[in-house]
Amino acid sequence: MKIYEMTNEERIRLLVQTGYLTTKQAELLQSRRTISLDLANSLSENQIGSFSLPYGFATDFVVDGQDYLVPMVIEEPSVIAAASNAAKRIKNSGGFRTFPSSRVVYGQIVLENLTETDIETLEKKNSEIFECAQQAHPSLIKRGGGIVSLRFNRYDGFLEIELGIDTVDAMGANMVNSILEKTAHKISSLVSGDILCSILSNSGQGQVITAEAAIDFEQLKTKSMSGSEVAFRIVKLANFAKQSVKRAVTHNKGIMNGIDAVYLATGNDFRAQEAAAHSFAFESGQYQPFSEWRIKDGQLLGTLKMPIELGSVGGAISALPMAQLSLAIMKITNSKQLQSVVAAVGLANNLSALRALVTTGIQAGHMGLQSKSLAVSAGASGFEIEEVSKRMNQTKNYTIENAKNILMKLRG
Ligand code: NDP
Repeated sequence: MKIYEMTNEERIRLLVQTGYLTTKQAELLQSRRTISLDLANSLSENQIGSFSLPYGFATDFVVDGQDYLVPMVIEEPSVIAAASNAAKRIKNSGGFRTFPSSRVVYGQIVLENLTETDIETLEKKNSEIFECAQQAHPSLIKRGGGIVSLRFNRYDGFLEIELGIDTVDAMGANMVNSILEKTAHKISSLVSGDILCSILSNSGQGQVITAEAAIDFEQLKTKSMSGSEVAFRIVKLANFAKQSVKRAVTHNKGIMNGIDAVYLATGNDFRAQEAAAHSFAFESGQYQPFSEWRIKDGQLLGTLKMPIELGSVGGAISALPMAQLSLAIMKITNSKQLQSVVAAVGLANNLSALRALVTTGIQAGHMGLQSKSLAVSAGASGFEIEEVSKRMNQTKNYTIENAKNILMKLRG
């Protein structure tokens, strides 16, 4: 039986049988427990409850030779199906390859009202400043990370002291902010100017990763189009996105569909990721797609390049039981590995969207799945959801009104 045809219980049982879940983890899922009030209160403010979203997993990911089931949290129909569908085509062609970057987070200490003498003093004392920053979080050095760069950048009326910090497996926002504030304290003892602020940059420039997939034409064919025709049409559409900002934004939204879903499933900060990704898209001065597609050696070659700003420890990742469960399902042991999986998911969702667009159009698959949420919005429950969805798919009329009419007839 196909995974998408199973019941929720059958899927959980399969994950236990195949070693992705322990029985204890399966119980956590089956208990349908939300987070405790204590945890909610310790994570954010003015709590009155917790908010659930669908939690599923994408199948068939082979990334750098390793098999993954990828947990995803998303309310949008078809994203998990699309990721799995493309991952299978890519698996059949050899899988994803990734080229991880450094794990450097940049931080800024912004000073104003400095004299030239102040700036010279700071530049002369750069090793003292570097050492102060290094000692601000000694456990990072023990883990093989720590301060990797220190630069002085002059702006009109400001001096920026930019620290590059390898945060190892943590996303690092809190760590970096703490290091910056301690370093700023030292700086204020050296010069008379004012510290305007000390904060990490979410640019993600030290965490740009590349993921690649070469897909055999055979894997791309549809009932009415050959694989090579699909491949060439994908290349054309991806090239169009380089010229049209309106298209590039939607191209990238499709990539973020998958990426954000894994961020949510792993307790990562998707706001930080969105900020990093979209600033990167604009790096050349013209908003660009995160991925490129071309034909190489008789295959369709997709390359995704973008910052992936995340952690596998710290923050909400370590606090949320479901985030821990997601990392366990993926058998993630470090943040670079998670970056690679996330980049692969982005590229998979991109391939599915492009393939659908240049062949049957996006709505054929999308609305087939969206019809279930329309059925629920119309008031269907239990077996009615499947039945209303099926009848909507037969009529291809995807409106709430149609869903309500079908439901009324169904109920007699
Ligand atoms: P934490 O403050 O939780 O710091 C990371 C923790 O992980 C540290 O306690 C560290 O221990 C521990 N750790 C254990 N193993 C490792 C390892 N292998 N590598 C690195 N650290 C390890 O989280 P972050 O600093 O990552 O901050 C992330 C949080 O900050 C997110 O929740 C984010 O939403 C939030 N945030 C984001 C901002 C932004 O993006 N602009 C701004 C402010 C906050 P030890 O102390 O012993 O080193």
